[in-house]
Amino acid sequence: MAENEVPENLEPTTEVAKTTEFGLAKAFQESAPITDQSASGFFKQLLGFWVTFATMFKKPNTVQYPEVKAPTEPRFHGRHQLNRHPDGLEKCIGCELCAWACPADAILVEGANNTPENQVSPGERYGAVYQINYLRCIFCGLCIEACPTRALTMTNEYELADNDRGKLIFEKEDLLAPLRAGMLMPPHPMYPGADDGTYYRGEVPGSHPSQNPEANANA
Ligand code: SF4
Ligand code: SF4
Repeated sequence: MAENEVPENLEPTTEVAKTTEFGLAKAFQESAPITDQSASGFFKQLLGFWVTFATMFKKPNTVQYPEVKAPTEPRFHGRHQLNRHPDGLEKCIGCELCAWACPADAILVEGANNTPENQVSPGERYGAVYQINYLRCIFCGLCIEACPTRALTMTNEYELADNDRGKLIFEKEDLLAPLRAGMLMPPHPMYPGADDGTYYRGEVPGSHPSQNPEANANA
């Protein structure tokens, strides 16, 4: 007999036959109509409706989205954000660790050197190009775990659908956190007397008047 030829008289094994027989009998039993008209039969049917009945008195989970938005869990993985130091300088140092950690290859980072005239983040480097492709992102959060400066975090925002694929590639401007009170728009000099370690340890309280080049020029 050839190696792949199936013998004609092959019968199912006893074990297979038994299992099939049991499965068919059980399926028939479950699908058979209830013919028991006694009181116990009535209560059996009542028991079957119990879940439906009890659910009628529970608070509904359905909300009228998008008019009503259910709050997410606090640690929900939503849209990313590139954070700033309290004086407004960017936390991203362009190291690309987030891009290397990403299993979906969704992040593109290109770093560049800070200069005294163009100080965007504390230290030597900043993220000149930063893109996240939300057509690829699976919101696993590995990128934020890899970030050494906590520049990259995830917000609770989940409304990311669009019918234009191009709009789902977010640029650095789309991801940067807004300026809060006490922050200045970079580029501007670092806080007086601070180095990148001072920034990293969170010891910079906010912007200093000397960091505002425009105010200094007008003075
Ligand atoms: S959340 Fe996951 S898939 Fe999305 S950019 Fe970060 S590492 Fe990549
Ligand atoms: S977001 Fe964090 S990990 Fe990514 S390039 Fe910037 S500093 Fe590096």
